Amino acid sequence: MASMLRKLVVVGVGLIGGSFALALKAAGAVDHVVGVGRRAGTLERALELGIIDATGALEASTLSDADLVLISVPVAQTQAVLGALAPHLGATTVVTDAGSTKQDVVAAARAAMGARIGQFVPGHPIAGTEHSGPDAAFAELFRGRNVVLTPLSENSPAGVARVRGAWEACGARVRELGVADHDEVFAAVSHLPHLLAYALVEHVAGRSGGEGPMSFAAGGFRDFTRIASSHPEMWRDICMANRGALLRELAGYGAVLDQVRDMLERGDGAALQTLFDKARVARNRWLERSGG
Ligand code: NAP
Repeated sequence: MASMLRKLVVVGVGLIGGSFALALKAAGAVDHVVGVGRRAGTLERALELGIIDATGALEASTLSDADLVLISVPVAQTQAVLGALAPHLGATTVVTDAGSTKQDVVAAARAAMGARIGQFVPGHPIAGTEHSGPDAAFAELFRGRNVVLTPLSENSPAGVARVRGAWEACGARVRELGVADHDEVFAAVSHLPHLLAYALVEHVAGRSGGEGPMSFAAGGFRDFTRIASSHPEMWRDICMANRGALLRELAGYGAVLDQVRDMLERGDGAALQTLFDKARVARNRWLERSGG
């Protein structure tokens, strides 16, 4: 099979960028992968692991003949990265990103890329782990998972198709959403849960003698707080970037907690059970539909 991409540039070779490169390589969908990064040690490790074939920089020799550039850095870095790479892009190079928020990324892209904005197709893979860096990357990360694209009116159908095709070669299902809809949806199902996980650990570990209760914690605490082991810089940026939608979700969640508190204060076990029943049915239905 002829490779779909002759040259891929990955800016930020961590969990997501590294897994994208490995998945495309495993599928035989790319000939040559060049990594661009912040710390030299991270790029050296990515070379050792066979994730990238060479290192590069945000300059013409790396970018002008690339078919696709994936930006997979913490979202607050996006504007600086796009600003540095835009002048060096080839006329047919397509740029996409993996950022977990889209309104800030699109605004950054418009500011940084100007007339070249049509070359930027925003994306977000709905897959990840609580681990980071090139050592965490693996080729199967996106298999069977959703990737959301939020195409812009300036994008060409061919540009969107190139990004879609690359993610499909990684084994992902590609869906499209509007930019604002994306941020509302993921505030509820991703950003709020991360905030709550960090807050619960802070609550339990932060009290005096916090090590005491934590030493008794088992599966429930582990499952609820798994994502509090995620990369703090990345989650700081996501929460800040999407704080409007996140604050709305926090208010809605707070209202449910108020109801629960009220039930407990009233000693209303029946109401509590009704709420738990409804939540369990909704979660089980979601598990069935999403294939577990
Ligand atoms: P990660 O494992 O920490 O990797 C990020 C990489 O970006 C690191 O290798 C870092 O290099 C590099 N980097 C940081 N600033 C840079 C800059 N200015 N220029 C070049 N490289 C830079 O993080 P990740 O989990 O792959 O996340 C990357 C993006 O994917 C984020 O925008 C995140 O929102 C999004 N995302 C993450 C998940 C998830 O579950 N992890 C899921 C979906 C989307 P150094 O090692 O040198 O610091």
